[in-house]
Amino acid sequence: MSSPVIPLVVAVDGPAGSGKSSVSKEVARRLGFGFLDTGAAYRALAWHATTSGVDTEDADAVVRCLGSFDYRIGTDPDGYAVHVGDADVTTAIRDPAISAVVSRVARVPEVRAHLIELFRSTMATERRPGIVVEGRDITTVVSPDAPVRILLTATEDVRIARRSAELVGDSAQAAGEQLHRRDQADSKVVDFMTAAEGVTTVDSTELDFEQTVDAVIGVIRAVQPEAVRERREG
Ligand code: C5P
Repeated sequence: MSSPVIPLVVAVDGPAGSGKSSVSKEVARRLGFGFLDTGAAYRALAWHATTSGVDTEDADAVVRCLGSFDYRIGTDPDGYAVHVGDADVTTAIRDPAISAVVSRVARVPEVRAHLIELFRSTMATERRPGIVVEGRDITTVVSPDAPVRILLTATEDVRIARRSAELVGDSAQAAGEQLHRRDQADSKVVDFMTAAEGVTTVDSTELDFEQTVDAVIGVIRAVQPEAVRERREG
């Protein structure tokens, strides 16, 4: 019997607006890898708590909420959907109202322990040859032994400009303030502003999307040349 193939894990961390989600998804698409957006799980739990009438400031109530949190996410970079129970929350979890409360949910240790287990089992059962996993603590906590570990950064000004362009109807200033507040709150829980030992920093401040994707693929190629067989859309 042949032994199961262990997927190559590419861990990508970074602050809000660094482009890690769109870049990671495109890298996965080009390499034929899976893609796991870990922030979606924290967002989905924040959605579940708020729609269940739970006060997200109340850590005990949030922990109790985990008992009824039936979460599913796909790893297909070409069409991943996020479900909580029967509800498709793929779009709802991007609402600014969820972004505003997600850090409260993410700071609860029991929540992190629960979701980290879920991420590890998703990674272990990936059927593609690799999986790009993006978040805040992937290079340090979720998968510190990943063969490829990257910190994707950009200056705060550039990140705010990118995020404001994404948020229709929200003022650029409000988007900027929220991004700043969220990074401040999140960085009290995990350090994603400085690269841990062995983690390669890719600074996208001066790079456009294509250049950032190429830079990330370059890091993967340097570690695992045989993993990089790019499939570009013709
Ligand atoms: O990446 P995204 O902005 O969607 O993440 C939403 C939130 O989820 C973050 O602001 C953070 O509070 C939390 N998060 C986390 N650890 C991760 C990924 C996301 O705490 N690995």
